[in-house]
Amino acid sequence: MFGKKGGSSGGGNTGRENDDDEEADEIDLVSFQGTIDGTPVDLKPHSKLVQVGLVPAKEMVTDGLSRRAETIRLDIKGERGQTTLYVDGVAYAGSRMAKNEAMAIMQMMKLLAGCDPKDRSKPQKGGLKATFEDRPYEALVETSFSSEGAERLYVRLRNLKVKLDTPEELGFPAKLKPLVRELVAKRRGLILATGPSGSGVTSTRFGLVRAIDVYLYAIFTLADAGTRELPNITKFEVVEGDDVETTLSRISRAEGDVVFLDPLEGAEQLKLLTDPCEKMVLISEIAAKDAASAIALVGKWLEDQAKAASLLELVVSQKLIRLLCKDCKEAFRPNPKLLAKVGLPPETKVLYRKPEPPEEDNPKAAPLEPCETCGDVGYVGRTAMYESIQMTDQIRELVAKGAAPDQIKAQARAEGMLTLNKDGMRLVAEGRTSLEELQRVFSAEGR
Ligand SMILES: [Zn+2]
Repeated sequence: MFGKKGGSSGGGNTGRENDDDEEADEIDLVSFQGTIDGTPVDLKPHSKLVQVGLVPAKEMVTDGLSRRAETIRLDIKGERGQTTLYVDGVAYAGSRMAKNEAMAIMQMMKLLAGCDPKDRSKPQKGGLKATFEDRPYEALVETSFSSEGAERLYVRLRNLKVKLDTPEELGFPAKLKPLVRELVAKRRGLILATGPSGSGVTSTRFGLVRAIDVYLYAIFTLADAGTRELPNITKFEVVEGDDVETTLSRISRAEGDVVFLDPLEGAEQLKLLTDPCEKMVLISEIAAKDAASAIALVGKWLEDQAKAASLLELVVSQKLIRLLCKDCKEAFRPNPKLLAKVGLPPETKVLYRKPEPPEEDNPKAAPLEPCETCGDVGYVGRTAMYESIQMTDQIRELVAKGAAPDQIKAQARAEGMLTLNKDGMRLVAEGRTSLEELQRVFSAEGR
């Protein structure tokens, strides 16, 4: 459907001078433009590999990009290679190829990404720059091994034109930005983004610091920003040999109000932050299932529930959800029972869903027009639903007593805080996603 080379074309060979039917729907291939970190790659000593691997590697990446995949996975099973494309978090079968070709692609991608193409003894990581249809991309290349020991390739693609840095770009709910600003005004405490990896947690961490008014506070960063921008936020030059605690007291003496940190890695590191947290706002990230679990984890790492209760100010987590395709979404009038069941106001007049194909036993129904925008997937792109737990007096009391995450969550709900489900319903009511998608995301727990 996306003009894959060698696909079943069956005509449409218009306006072309060559009469080769197989090339009829060929599209321009991606162009590769060197490694991300600038490591030079010399293709000359690998001319044999380039000859067999470069075009198939370009075809694989082109296929992924034209189908809007964020990740391409290549596996070798028996005598065949098979790609899997992840489009907005959902897996689709890609193309199949002979084992030799798949092996050549793996080696070629490793070479282009600045890795050792011959080394199959350990996982490798690298990256390359690419351009497709005039858009710049970053392709992170990673190899790992399946439980059976077979080498597996991941290519993670990111369109560099799409910025996801500010609260607005990230779709923060209306109340979240003012809440962050209100808490930062206390000039103390820990603000955390949380969620499993791949849930958008790093974007949320950047969104939290970007929510602060840079003209009111002195904000310093110790975090690795990668390709993201942090305008008016000063990179603090760490003195060689200083640990985090010493660096933070230097920032405090330099009258810093807010410090932006890399993700927290463990108990020892967190313990070093407790004193600086009394004088400044620290923003970081912690890997946990959700906000309440993150609070419990902070208590566990500090081995002191009361300290966790006083240290924390706000924990925000998120889940990604697909957005309905603007060009083919279908409006429907929800019945009152449905509205009551999902908790939407009874006056809701219209909701949207992915278009349903006409029922087979209805010969009069017109067949669906294929949608080019989404390739008939019904969804294009994703946004985040957010959940936040603010440390109110009641929540602090619960946390200090070592309450379970479920109790913390229930109290947050009772105080009207933002929950994933509530925020997801906002997106449904706004017609940006569907009830079916919301259900899918919650039932795909642990993905
Ligand atoms: Zn569509």
